[in-house]
Amino acid sequence: MALIEDPLMALHACPHCHQPGVSSVAKVHSLFMKPAECRVCHRFCYLHYTHGLRAMIVWVIFSWMFIGIALYQNLWIYLIGTIPALLLAVDKFILTAPLRPLD
Ligand SMILES: [Zn+2]
Repeated sequence: MALIEDPLMALHACPHCHQPGVSSVAKVHSLFMKPAECRVCHRFCYLHYTHGLRAMIVWVIFSWMFIGIALYQNLWIYLIGTIPALLLAVDKFILTAPLRPLD
């Protein structure tokens, strides 16, 4: 089964059946007490909270960098940089993290 290239539509490997059956949205939601269901074997898995914590720390560091530049340059347009920083943090630290089996 081929993986779809779009990161939001991509399916991630299930820890039970090892097939790409977990969507990116379900994977991110599994950080917030809602286990992700595999579309192939219908068993549940989740992402450990430390992956969410790492993503948040990276995002906060990047955000403060952009806030610092915005204050220094007095150009508030630099605050837009916090949005791609959030996408980068979610992509690098949440979507690539391995899922854990729930049962
Ligand atoms: Zn599965």
